[in-house]
Amino acid sequence: LPAGSPADQLPRYVRVNTLKTTVRDTVDYLKREGFSYLGQAVRLDNLTLKNKDFVLDLHLPEVLAFPPNTDFHDHFLYKAGHIILQDKASCLPAHLLHPPPGSHVIDACAAPGNKTSHLAAIMKNRGRLFAFDLDGKRLSTMSTLLLRAGVSCHQLANRDFLTVDPDDPQYKDVEYILLDPSCSGSGMVCLRDRSPADQEEEKARLAALASFQLRCLNHSLRFPRLKRLVYSTCSIHSQENEEVVAACLQQNPDFRLVPLLAQWPERGLEPLSQCLRASTTKTLTHGFFVAMLEKVGDGRGIKK
Ligand code: SAM
Repeated sequence: LPAGSPADQLPRYVRVNTLKTTVRDTVDYLKREGFSYLGQAVRLDNLTLKNKDFVLDLHLPEVLAFPPNTDFHDHFLYKAGHIILQDKASCLPAHLLHPPPGSHVIDACAAPGNKTSHLAAIMKNRGRLFAFDLDGKRLSTMSTLLLRAGVSCHQLANRDFLTVDPDDPQYKDVEYILLDPSCSGSGMVCLRDRSPADQEEEKARLAALASFQLRCLNHSLRFPRLKRLVYSTCSIHSQENEEVVAACLQQNPDFRLVPLLAQWPERGLEPLSQCLRASTTKTLTHGFFVAMLEKVGDGRGIKK
């Protein structure tokens, strides 16, 4: 794909919701409906599909890829919560955090909840999933989505995450945090054609977002039992990505980066090559960034 390809040239991705079904049953259902299944992709260009062909993704075990513009909004599998319409890149955060069933997890900026439902699927609905969002309207959309997806281990709160007290006893067992805060959205292909804002205004907006993101990140690291945190944005600006993570690591020497998916084709900008980036050209997705931080050994033993 040429740089900056429009969204209508990207593969359409679907995440199979393992709380309700399996990849196998979903594939069989779609085959019976006239789609043709080509198996698991082995190279990135296997994701470039035509007609009614589809494949299992090569990096993410529950993601299926379809030709551009395949529309599942009116499909039974979507309405029944068996499939979630989610870009492949946005499936990375929960997949990488991978909280085990039974664990206590925070989704700090959670609405509309696609990553929350992915976390719940990985946790097999066991454990506790605290999900916060500042926006009440987005949270009510989220309740509907989680209900449809069969999620039951969550607790939603209409809260500013920055005011959630890390020392509150109810969070004492939280070991995993997913932080996907508001960002410029500059990785979303459909937003790129917006007329460019005033340069000074744009600079100020990015600086305000980066400072909010860093505050959220620093706040997250204050949860006393935290082992691992995934930070993600759908921005392509290093100011909201590598620069936020680098500043946070400098302020929190008890955390370090975890090297992510060696086989992923696009890395964080140097020196943060442990992190992942995603783009229309190199990963056939929207633009995205993911970092994982882990607590440096504190004598309580960190499970790898
Ligand atoms: N993780 C979501 C998903 O996968 O569906 C998308 C999250 S979106 C990028 C960022 C969210 O952060 C928005 O819903 C916004 O309302 C919320 N937000 C912004 N500031 C917040 C704050 N201080 N505390 C909690 N949520 C906040």
